[in-house]
Amino acid sequence: MKNSVHPRKVEFFRHNIEAEDIGRLQEVFDSIFLTTGSATAEFEQKFAEYIGISFVTGVTSCTAALHLALLAIGIGAGDEVITTPMTFLATATAILHAGATPIFVDVEPETGLINPKKIPAVVTSRTKAILPVHLYGAMADMRSIRTIADQYKLKIIEDCAHCIEGERDGIRPGMLSDFACYSFYATKNLTCGEGGAVATRHRLLNERIRLLRLHGINADASTRYGLQYRHWDMEVLGWKYNMDNIHAALLIRQIARLDGYWKRREEICQGYERAFEKIPGIAFPKVPGKSARHLQTLWVDAGRRDEVMWKLQQSGIGVGCNYRAVHTLKYFRESLNFQPSDFPIAYEMGCRTLSIPLYPKLSNEELDYVVENIKKIVG
Ligand SMILES: *Cc1c(COP(=O)(O)O)cnc(C)c1O
Repeated sequence: MKNSVHPRKVEFFRHNIEAEDIGRLQEVFDSIFLTTGSATAEFEQKFAEYIGISFVTGVTSCTAALHLALLAIGIGAGDEVITTPMTFLATATAILHAGATPIFVDVEPETGLINPKKIPAVVTSRTKAILPVHLYGAMADMRSIRTIADQYKLKIIEDCAHCIEGERDGIRPGMLSDFACYSFYATKNLTCGEGGAVATRHRLLNERIRLLRLHGINADASTRYGLQYRHWDMEVLGWKYNMDNIHAALLIRQIARLDGYWKRREEICQGYERAFEKIPGIAFPKVPGKSARHLQTLWVDAGRRDEVMWKLQQSGIGVGCNYRAVHTLKYFRESLNFQPSDFPIAYEMGCRTLSIPLYPKLSNEELDYVVENIKKIVG
């Protein structure tokens, strides 16, 4: 049973890449430049317009985006960065990559978002930044986090891997922070397989990101092309995180379709919420403001979660687990000495959570099939 393959009726995720995206990709292959160049620049400009933040730099992943954002504000060994344990592990490992220490604070029980009220208690003289995550598409309380950051003179880097389209208290991602970091990984709302971006309102910080994303050298291949040869130089120790024209090409035309996709996901989530509202044994996170609707998560009894996931799989329904709390993963327990009980709300949430199919191509028939099976299994 454990390893059997079930006929898949409803996929967990299906991407939205269409013929016009492949068309834009063909243009790249018909040109001379495959690596970072005009398609990357076009993507950066169109994405900046969509999110309403002045500067965007395309990179290879959100993990890279977070890493560069931390480096760009000078975070390194001996520094502490406050974040949430209810996230994908990359939020915390980016802090480790920068040489700093992740300091977790527990989450709000109703939303799963970082609890701003718990931040001041963990601020020390080593604290340099707060790294909130807009979990499942719902924005963290950025106004409160901004107030705390001002009080203690901290930087803010937002993990927006789930949240391109969200809004809360009149604020969108990137508006109150130093950096907003995005993911275009295979299952994200906007995808090219692997990709990411750093957005910032600050020109100098953006220049720093651009330098760090490509070896710390001061001119990329496409800006050198066709000009009389001039030697480039390496100014700082950088990384190899540049988004190429191939990945950028797949993203460019999806941007104009994002709002339509969001509307369909909103409809699906409302359908799920209506269906599960009065079912005992099923709860789901509260959504403050407008959620980007990246994941539909349910909370069931901790003891039943895995069984519910397996039974859904046996009915041919794709499922996910977003997330078991980061501090409970082996590396964090064994190498960093965390105990599950250190952050009990995130720990319990991580034992109760499962994610069900959510994407624009999910049909009403598929939605009904998922709802019917969940009611049968949990009820
Ligand atoms: C997907 C994800 C990341 C990492 O994104 P990559 O592009 O795969 O590096 C970081 N944080 C969260 C919350 C994510 O869901």
